Amino acid sequence: MTIKFGPAGLGPVKTAEEVLENYSKLGLKACEIAFTYGIYIKEKSNALRIGKKAKELGISLSIHAPYYINLNSAEKEKIESSKKRILDCLEVGNLLGAKCVVFHPGFYGKFSKEGTYENIKKQILELEKIRKEKKYSPKLCPETMGKINVFGSAEEISKLSKETGCGFCIDFAHILARDKEVDMNRIVTLFPDKEWHVHFSGIEYGEKGEKNHKKTEEKEMKNLLKGLPSDKEIVIINESPYPMEDSVAGLNIYSKK
Ligand SMILES: [Zn+2]
Repeated sequence: MTIKFGPAGLGPVKTAEEVLENYSKLGLKACEIAFTYGIYIKEKSNALRIGKKAKELGISLSIHAPYYINLNSAEKEKIESSKKRILDCLEVGNLLGAKCVVFHPGFYGKFSKEGTYENIKKQILELEKIRKEKKYSPKLCPETMGKINVFGSAEEISKLSKETGCGFCIDFAHILARDKEVDMNRIVTLFPDKEWHVHFSGIEYGEKGEKNHKKTEEKEMKNLLKGLPSDKEIVIINESPYPMEDSVAGLNIYSKK
């Protein structure tokens, strides 16, 4: 098993290479670039430069697509603009050499769970088709979601991956918040793939699932690391309010085993 640890967030384009060097000095081998509030790496040359630096340092890059995505909107325009955002991320991700474009697939809205699944599956199949035509290298990775009224249970994401060939992002904080427990055997059965892209952090939750992300407690990190299957290649992106510190803490626990 190999586990690469890294934070959510790279910060501004200007300082990206320094920040990657700093991550590397700390032993971090992954970084998820947050396009959550917009795709801020606009120049092709910048994407190539940042990608080259990450490669030199052996840092695996991924992208988090904008939050404003709903592949199950009742409005056609909103579906189209959602797909455009994902495709724009794939294009930049391809220049960066990123392995995944993670996104929140959508909301149930007024549709049934089954109807929502079929709608989202259809859009992902279309996105996959374009991804292949354009030879974009990052995988499309819909994420397991933490709120029970949002599409994205572990079962739903697993089924999407099996039926469309897309990748996935397993957010263990979200799974805990949604299901009130993490049954690792169930997750291993749902995601038999060799490579796992994982999100983690501490989390506050209630009846409806996720409330907010919080600092990762040492015992939470230990529990996760103890439970992870030993035959996979795993990237763990920390999404707590202290993603770099918590990634280093995770790495230290992992290295001491
Ligand atoms: Zn996440």
